Amino acid sequence: MALDKNIVVLLGGVGGAKLAAGLAQILPARRLTFVVNTGDDFWHLGLKICPDLDTVMYTLARMVNPDWGWGLQGDSVVTLEALHRFYGLDTWFRLGDKDLATHILRSQLLRCGRSLTETTRRLSESLGLEAALLPMSDQEIPTMIETVEYGELAFQEYFVKHRWRPVLKSIRHAGCERSSLSSQVRSALSGADIVLIAPSNPWLSLAPILAVNGLRDLLASLDVPIVAVTPVIRGAAVKGPTAKIMSELGQDVTAANIADFYTGIINGFVNDIQNEPLGRGDLRSIQVNTLMNTEADKRSLAAATLNWIESWGA
Ligand code: GDP
Repeated sequence: MALDKNIVVLLGGVGGAKLAAGLAQILPARRLTFVVNTGDDFWHLGLKICPDLDTVMYTLARMVNPDWGWGLQGDSVVTLEALHRFYGLDTWFRLGDKDLATHILRSQLLRCGRSLTETTRRLSESLGLEAALLPMSDQEIPTMIETVEYGELAFQEYFVKHRWRPVLKSIRHAGCERSSLSSQVRSALSGADIVLIAPSNPWLSLAPILAVNGLRDLLASLDVPIVAVTPVIRGAAVKGPTAKIMSELGQDVTAANIADFYTGIINGFVNDIQNEPLGRGDLRSIQVNTLMNTEADKRSLAAATLNWIESWGA
């Protein structure tokens, strides 16, 4: 298998982290680079919160809460409850006590002038990660959600406070036109032998990454397999609002529409065995089990994807 290949994965949080965990089981860490969505990031209580970076970091460090797929295992919320006692402070965004240590350190490093890339490297190396974990950009590109009920909402208000109940009209990546790729993301992608797009939410987790100035052009200039994995199985998302958003945007919830979302970017697609075939002659695809309930499922999907890509050259 692709043990000697450099693999770059574009991903969001929980769904993406499952594939990341599978890849980490079968490949040497130095071959893996994870480019993570930071459109969900926000400043809260004076702290910089990066939900997707932390989900991937905690997953790879084997510290993640297994019931949720995010947050830290065995964490408590004593500090959050104490904050709420003061003046009924809004506590809709759950911050665990141990998790707070990550946010405090990150915020301090950022305030000292470190980039988010450098900050993430220090945090992830401290937790023992050998794979490279990179934010999609060092600039803030907050995802803004235009809703029917409330007009435009900041991402976490839409996602956590309103529990993605509002009807989505459109999405904006604020400031993306002024953004740029970090030298680390640029050089990881330039040196990639394979680029994978994890089964993350295309609209909320991948679109922000693809909105970073220069990223689409860089992907288009690469002559390597660029392969997406479906987050949709049998007309539904495994978790989260992917299917709801597709319906609200007037699309059928099919893998074919997920593949269409990545038109012009991907040259391969991993479809689920339970889905309809894509029926597209212009795109390589394979059907395998993509549902990752166990560590073995994650490893199998990672291995099946890489073995299939390796067979392209045969
Ligand atoms: P978030 O940022 O934490 O919302 O997570 P992501 O964007 O990375 O992942 C959300 C997407 O992952 C949803 O569309 C899910 O359908 C998808 N997903 C979650 N678990 C699985 C799984 O086991 N298999 C597949 N194929 N997709 C999954």
